[in-house]
Amino acid sequence: MRYAILSDIHGNIEALQAVLHDIESRGNVDYFWCLGDIVGYGPDPGPCIDVVRQQNALCIAGNHDLASIGQIDVGDFNSDAAVACRWTANNLSPDQTEYLANLPHSIQEGDFTLAHGSPREPIWEYILSAFSAYINFSYFDTLYCLVGHSHVPVVFKYLEGQTNCTFIEPHSGSTVNLCGERLIINPGSIGQPRDGDPRASYIIYNSDEHAIYYYRVAYNIAATQKKMTESGLPPRLISRLDHGW
Ligand code: ZN
Repeated sequence: MRYAILSDIHGNIEALQAVLHDIESRGNVDYFWCLGDIVGYGPDPGPCIDVVRQQNALCIAGNHDLASIGQIDVGDFNSDAAVACRWTANNLSPDQTEYLANLPHSIQEGDFTLAHGSPREPIWEYILSAFSAYINFSYFDTLYCLVGHSHVPVVFKYLEGQTNCTFIEPHSGSTVNLCGERLIINPGSIGQPRDGDPRASYIIYNSDEHAIYYYRVAYNIAATQKKMTESGLPPRLISRLDHGW
């Protein structure tokens, strides 16, 4: 079976559609998994939710999904994120709002745990260092954990008997073999990458090959930026898409 694993789409339909075309060009997948933050920042929150639903994706909630429906307080966001969040809230249909409201905060599926931020604190915690990853290995029971939230593609590996773990930063075309060692895997962000590469990031998991493949996909950034400008979204959120930070 082949699974496309998407995260942090953030209302960027151009990036999402480019990724869907890329998946199609690679022979398609059997299942879609989505690690949260479908909305927030970008100009097309509703269409992105509709696409995720059309793919029948197994999906969990991210902090932006919950903030845009009033389940968490935007007071915890920086000012640009809060502005975008309020704008998003006003641009969702009741049906789309209800979809976000019903998303679980984490899911266990086969060998994988899915959590937006971390298995310890699925909504808010960022796993940004080997040490925070090491701590989080105690908070899930499966071999592998999939997270998003940081918008940075990375794989942390647990080392039995040691008090830290190692990590790799995969690039487009990288393969990660799943050979029974415990891993925390971040596919990177589709709609707002933050690792210095502005291309949309996602992974395909092939369960027959026991491997994960990382891909980057160029998309029409200017088209997304134009819509953001027309919607009055904060300039800093618009310009950062050019640079992938
Ligand atoms: Zn995010």
